[in-house]
Amino acid sequence: MRFVIPMLVLCACGSNVDMSLEGPGGDELISMMAPSPSTQLATLARQRDEVASVSGNRFGRVDPLVKPPRHDAGVAEEVDAGVAEEVDAGVAEEVDAGVWTPSGPLGASISPHLGLGIPDDSSVGRADRWLLVRPQFVTSYDTAHKVPNWSAWKLDSSFFGPATRATSFRTDPLLGSASQARDSDYVGSGFDRGHLCPSADRTLTDADNDSTFFLTNVVPQTHASNAGPWLTLEDECRDRANEGKKLLIIAGPIFASNPQTIGTGVSVPVSMFKVVIVSTGELDAATLDPAAVKVYATIMPNTSVVTGSWRQWQVRIDDVEAATGLDFFSDVNPSVQAVLEARVDL
Ligand code: MN
Ligand code: MN
Repeated sequence: MRFVIPMLVLCACGSNVDMSLEGPGGDELISMMAPSPSTQLATLARQRDEVASVSGNRFGRVDPLVKPPRHDAGVAEEVDAGVAEEVDAGVAEEVDAGVWTPSGPLGASISPHLGLGIPDDSSVGRADRWLLVRPQFVTSYDTAHKVPNWSAWKLDSSFFGPATRATSFRTDPLLGSASQARDSDYVGSGFDRGHLCPSADRTLTDADNDSTFFLTNVVPQTHASNAGPWLTLEDECRDRANEGKKLLIIAGPIFASNPQTIGTGVSVPVSMFKVVIVSTGELDAATLDPAAVKVYATIMPNTSVVTGSWRQWQVRIDDVEAATGLDFFSDVNPSVQAVLEARVDL
């Protein structure tokens, strides 16, 4: 049985939201009336079971609910009580014992941008784990803190074209009336609207470029980082793409336990991570060869004094997983992950 994401936006939370939406640029979005919270929770629990059955219980291993909370501890602990135990029991043992078989590309079944796996349990749906799936990239969004958890996107030269940079940031229609950052939250804050998936990575069409300007793809970022070391890594990724390489990139914020906020409660990261895998061939979870790829990872402080190259903050992917509770490349055999995630490549 293959797990199928039944809708574009998955969330276990709150009120009935009429999500009949039409996106900017005329792109058609799924029109639906969200079911009641109890129905959603029942559906999500069933999905979790199905995913576990087809995926080698992936969520037991990677569930960020059992990892250190990335935001205010009180919130995460309250929500998480019981849930982590339920999904975690027995699963770790199974994985540790080496009982793992490729069970089908779960991430790829959702989006090509998740071709090596989902970094967290977004697909199961929580108030702080909205999975926003669009053709251009995928975002996990935290409506409580009004920031993305991460965005994930493929990059190669086919994504480059003649589109010019959009001129304004916008709220995300995929979230309907759910809580999210507004442009006004950033005005006068002293922080840049820092793209996760960069504008310059999506220039094939105007609609593609516009999609990166949804504020669900944005975090409060210092200008020093955004126009400095962070940009040097973005540029390096585009250089590789222009050389004919295929990349898969995941980026997101890391927060202190009581983060500074701007505007109406948009959390400011203390640092930002990016994980990049670069390949000469197609990136496929089942056939990924550590010898044929390079991996780059960084945890960069979100301060006003950073300058120079991103390489100053290059770390192992393992370090990013430890800092975030995420599991990158979760559809890849754990023995391959172990090799890749411990490396620091030039
Ligand atoms: Mn930027
Ligand atoms: Mn991993």
